[in-house]
Amino acid sequence: MSEKTFAPASLAAQALGWIDPVTKAVVPPIHMASTYLRDEDNGYSSGRIYARSDNPTFDQAEATLTALEGGAKSLIFSSGMSAATACFLALAPGDHVVTSKVMYWALRNWLMTFATQWGLKVEFVDTDRTDAVAAAVKPGVTKLVWIETPANPTWSVSDIGAIAEIAHKAGALLGVDSTVATPVLTRPIEHGADIVMHSATKYLNGHSDIIAGALTGARDDAYWAKLRTIRSQLGTILGQTEAWLLMRGMRTLFPRVAWACKSAQSLAEKFAEHPMIEQVLYPGLPSFAGHAAAAKQMKGGFGGMLSVRVKGGERAAIATAARVGLWKRATSLGGVESLIEHRASIEGPGTPCPPDLLRLSVGVEESGDLFDDLDQALKRAHNA
Ligand SMILES: *Cc1c(COP(=O)(O)O)cnc(C)c1O
Repeated sequence: MSEKTFAPASLAAQALGWIDPVTKAVVPPIHMASTYLRDEDNGYSSGRIYARSDNPTFDQAEATLTALEGGAKSLIFSSGMSAATACFLALAPGDHVVTSKVMYWALRNWLMTFATQWGLKVEFVDTDRTDAVAAAVKPGVTKLVWIETPANPTWSVSDIGAIAEIAHKAGALLGVDSTVATPVLTRPIEHGADIVMHSATKYLNGHSDIIAGALTGARDDAYWAKLRTIRSQLGTILGQTEAWLLMRGMRTLFPRVAWACKSAQSLAEKFAEHPMIEQVLYPGLPSFAGHAAAAKQMKGGFGGMLSVRVKGGERAAIATAARVGLWKRATSLGGVESLIEHRASIEGPGTPCPPDLLRLSVGVEESGDLFDDLDQALKRAHNA
């Protein structure tokens, strides 16, 4: 199956058209082996030695993701966190990095604690303001700029193209956490990113049944080799069964994301008019601060994630979440089932998340049902 002649959705649906060469199965097998036979001349002609480095079950998921992102190589990891932290561990103590102030809370926490103790000089800036990035990046000193866009949980948008230019001029790499955008909506490498990271736990898998991560590199270079070595040395590989489930989930990535985008857009527009909602945060609303930057780099929709700020503050927000039925009160995102979460209470002290904010991950249910369920919860919480 030629990658040039088919659209990304077709490539994903058929995992690049891979067919098992022996059985002609249209779905790949799961390779359970932890070790591989050595040749009589002491070599490893299969290219496989030991399963802490890689596993044939990773091949389809990594190759499919590389095609979808338009990169050179991909690596799947045991989690989004192990994929993201590898990008920082591939630097050296003393290196300066510039990252988004608003980002996935566990990575921010790791950067403030472990990474800083290890010796990285981490600077958190509002990367949705390109001038703030330009002011923070130090030519010849900054080694990595890391952005998340749209960023948890306010969905602020950072301009990948403009930041890539700033980073590259200073001699730094640009890494993009593209978990929320997915390769369906944004291909960061086309905008100049050097590394794209996904929590594959979310949209890529899409069924809330594995923890996984992924990196795609624009080039197979020395930095990429370090990332591969880190995965192998730390053993932050995905299990074989989980890798197989990831590939199974990725086949339906395009229709899932398209459906979620359409529903999220409609819910954002309806809740923006709701009497018990103070503000809707969604890149697809023309009134949203990052709308123009989002329209530039997101094609075909603005994602399945939005947040609502409930009138009446933290108490009203928690009371609303307590009264939903169809929405499920849980953390995480990007699955087929819609989730609602009071975000400030999970992020803890120091969070930039407003206390009245409910984060919504829109799944593939009927959007009218989702609206009605949250609408009745808002009204019952208001009258309680
Ligand atoms: C969930 C998430 C992560 C962390 O991924 P895990 O798979 O949970 O380790 C990183 N970034 C974003 C944007 C996420 O949503």
